[in-house]
Amino acid sequence: MHALLVEDDDRMAQALGTALTQRGHTVRRVSRALDALLHVREAEFVLLDLGLPDLDGIELLRRLRTVCAAPLIVVTARCEERDIVTGLRAGADDYVVKPFRMAELMARIDTVRRRTDAHPVGSAHTGGGPVRTGDVEVDLAGRTVSVAGTEVRLTRREFDVLALLAAHPGEVRSREEILDRIWGDAFLAASRSLDVHVAGIRAKTGRSGLVRTVRGFGYQLGSPAAHGEPDGAR
Ligand code: CA
Repeated sequence: MHALLVEDDDRMAQALGTALTQRGHTVRRVSRALDALLHVREAEFVLLDLGLPDLDGIELLRRLRTVCAAPLIVVTARCEERDIVTGLRAGADDYVVKPFRMAELMARIDTVRRRTDAHPVGSAHTGGGPVRTGDVEVDLAGRTVSVAGTEVRLTRREFDVLALLAAHPGEVRSREEILDRIWGDAFLAASRSLDVHVAGIRAKTGRSGLVRTVRGFGYQLGSPAAHGEPDGAR
C-alpha cells in the first residue's frame, strides 16, 4: 500500500521508510505540514509526527481528516494522556509514542488497516464465481480448489491460507497477518507451521507458483505455470 510519512526528523524518517518498504509498502515522506496536505489524497495510510516545523500536528491532523479518510496513526514523542486523548479525538486511528518498537508499530499498522478496510478478506472477490489463476480455480464459497479441471483436496488450514490470498489476488499478505488470522496468534511456533502449509498447497496442486513468496515479508497469490515448474520464488 502507499504510505504518507509525515516526519521532519531525517533519521526517524529513514528508519520508518526502510521498515515500511521492507513490508512491501511504497512511501512518500514529507517533513512539512503543507506538503502533507498536498499529498494526502494519494495515501492509503498515514503516519503522522506531531512536532512539525510549520504547523502544530494536531491542527494538521484535523485538516487532514477533512480531506482524507485513510487510516492514520500518530507517531510522536508527546506522551501525556491529554495529548493522546486529543490525538484520538481529532481523528487518529491509533497513537504510538516514541521511542517505539518497530515490530509493534508495523503490527499496529496492519491492525488499523484491517479495521478500516472497506473490503475485508472474503468479500473483495465479489464476482461470485471462482478465482482463477493459470489453470487453478479457487472457489471461495464452496471451499474447493481445482487444477486443470480436477479437484484437489487440501486440509482446512491449507485452504484457509490459499483463500486468504485468493480473496485479494493483487495484494501481498504479511506472515504476521496470515498467522494472526488463521492461527490466531502471530507469535507462536505457528510460523513454522505456515511454511509447512504453503509447501502442502504447492505440492498437492503441483503448482509451485500458485503461492508466491515475497521474501522477508509474506505471500501473494501467484500465476502458476501449467507444469508446476519451480518459479524460483522460494
Ligand atoms: Ca518532529
